[in-house]
Amino acid sequence: MNPPPNAGSAATPRALAAPLPVPLGYPVYCAAGVLAHVGDIVRTVAPSHRVAIISDDTVAAHHAATLRAQCPAGATQLFTMPPGEQEKTRERWAQLTDALIAWGAGRDTTIIALGGGVVGDLAGFVAATFMRGLPVVQVPTTLLAMVDASVGGKTAVDTPAGKNLVGAFHNPAAVVIDPAVLGTLPAPILRSGLAEMLKHGIIADASYFDQILLALPDILSQGAAAPGFAQLIAGSVHIKADVVAEDTREGGLRQILNFGHTIAHAIEKVQRYDMLHGDAVAMGMIAEARLAECIGLAGPGLARSVRDAVQRAGLPVALPTGIDIDAVLAETHGDKKARGGAARYALPRGIGEMEPAEGRWAVPVDDVVVKTVLGELKGS
Ligand code: NAD
Repeated sequence: MNPPPNAGSAATPRALAAPLPVPLGYPVYCAAGVLAHVGDIVRTVAPSHRVAIISDDTVAAHHAATLRAQCPAGATQLFTMPPGEQEKTRERWAQLTDALIAWGAGRDTTIIALGGGVVGDLAGFVAATFMRGLPVVQVPTTLLAMVDASVGGKTAVDTPAGKNLVGAFHNPAAVVIDPAVLGTLPAPILRSGLAEMLKHGIIADASYFDQILLALPDILSQGAAAPGFAQLIAGSVHIKADVVAEDTREGGLRQILNFGHTIAHAIEKVQRYDMLHGDAVAMGMIAEARLAECIGLAGPGLARSVRDAVQRAGLPVALPTGIDIDAVLAETHGDKKARGGAARYALPRGIGEMEPAEGRWAVPVDDVVVKTVLGELKGS
């Protein structure tokens, strides 16, 4: 089968379904079982003498052997680290790059990032910087990484001052999404990824939003085996890819992907990141939908619809008990969209439609309104 016209420049390896027709310039494969074709894909999109697989210990224990078996024996090395956001640091970047040098990696090396968003961001940043840039193939293993982190070319590490403060745009040579690997993912982490899928529906496509709502009971009861799950993941990838293709460096339209995230990031920071990102995004989406209502951008009922969807996905609809609302408010001022100390928000006009704000795709909202809305969320 031939790849669709804008599916990336690479030819499709034999016996492999065509990549998704996304306008990214690199192929995104999404199909159950495609993990067994990563070796073919690497040979096609990023032929090299050596392959460095970067993963975390948990993911590697489940899935690294499948990859290693497809890569050149004697010229493939697995580099692992402990799982978790606390590993996404400059120190871990230095340790990995030192290990690559000691192993003999050079310009002839391709990196495979096998893991969730932490591994994807860190291994992507290693690839962006090692010898001024190596090809990286992203193999996401969490739902969040499949529908969000692996697509778009953003790579980064955290610093003590904040998340993702040191990074680079570095597009992958390919993204390989195998929903079957979600079979080993704990249920709360899978659920957390649903928040980003709902977000994609809210920012761009009301019918996609409805499809997710319909599928939620199956996803919650059957996980990765839910019928049609691969197609739903592909739907999210399409939405993210269309936005990213319009605005690769986050100058305008890409702001809409931040819906729910200004408040989510503030909540995460106040909670010292001791929570799942998707849980924070779920609360952030309810709060920001309510902001849109309060300032008259959206009609009444939007926040109710978002809240219902979040609840049906098994995600939290109220702020963590005892959270300091003033502290959350203060953290919104540090958001990357803030200007002159005032927080700005990417806000929906309704499900599937965002406020363009004359091409800025983010609007300022008075602190008094934000504080009121946060207060409502605490009480709900
Ligand atoms: P994560 O990478 O920490 O993974 C969560 C946990 O799941 C880890 O303990 C991991 O070991 C485990 N895990 C992963 N896949 C598994 C599997 N298949 N089976 C069993 N266990 C598995 O978390 P995440 O939510 O995937 O990613 C969060 C990160 O993504 C954050 O650092 C965030 O900044 C980043 N991110 C980046 C972008 C981007 O555009 N680059 C977008 C969104 C999020």
